[in-house]
Amino acid sequence: MLPDSDDILDRCVIYREFSMPVRKFYQYDRGDDSVYGFRVGRFNLGINTTFILYRIGNTLIDTGPTNQWKDIRLQLKDTDIQQLLITHHHEDHAGNTQRIAEMKGIVPLAPALGQAKIASGFKTPVMQKLIWGSPVPAKTDTMPEEFTLTDGSPVIAVHTPGHAKDLTCLFLPKQKYLFSGDMYISRSLKYMRADENLEQLMDGLRKLLKLDFEIVFCPHNGIVEDGKAALQDKLNNLEAMCQKAAAYSAEGLTEEQVIEKLVGPEDMLSKLSRYNISKGNLVRQAIEIGRK
Ligand SMILES: [Zn+2]
Repeated sequence: MLPDSDDILDRCVIYREFSMPVRKFYQYDRGDDSVYGFRVGRFNLGINTTFILYRIGNTLIDTGPTNQWKDIRLQLKDTDIQQLLITHHHEDHAGNTQRIAEMKGIVPLAPALGQAKIASGFKTPVMQKLIWGSPVPAKTDTMPEEFTLTDGSPVIAVHTPGHAKDLTCLFLPKQKYLFSGDMYISRSLKYMRADENLEQLMDGLRKLLKLDFEIVFCPHNGIVEDGKAALQDKLNNLEAMCQKAAAYSAEGLTEEQVIEKLVGPEDMLSKLSRYNISKGNLVRQAIEIGRK
């Protein structure tokens, strides 16, 4: 059998020199409600190419990418995990679902709209495959709208599509925590994937801002202690971008000129992803929304 690209990379001495096991550990101290995390990732090309797995009590949120399984397994093997919650099907979040379920003898909970994709696995573009590896198909149960952690404290599943159809944030009202899936990432956006919907994403932010949370646990950015202000900033920045984009467009600027003015010209990331991830995907939608 031919080795897959992960095996080849693992055998490459230069790659091993620059790749790291766990990049950073996280801890948010609050007695029984403390949250622990560790960041993994093959490349550190910015916050989007590494991933933090968070744990509260014996509940793990999301699974990390498959090409980091060796290190994730080491971190989890002696940890008591009784519940695994998946925010959405993307391979950095759900890639190791089956492996963790088997290791711990549990059935993970995933959003109904993501279960089919998680169960069948899916093809990802070459660049994503290199960054994360391919997802391993997994069996899950449907995540209810309301359920509890194993200590009995409530979890509310908040469906916030836009980034992905199934994206579901986990709101813990007792602790005032929000596990935000990919709803936050950073205060301002520069790129969007071709399949992302900006209007839905902004509606999702408005929905979250009505909830009484304080701390945001973002798997890419980290622990955001002023989480509510950060999400509000993100929404404000997007609203301002939509207004500006529509105004520039009304002045007669071409789409390319509006992109340059707002977020600078398309760059390597856009080109490498063949414009699946691009500034144009964001600005085109911003112009439409700002016109309304
Ligand atoms: Zn995602």
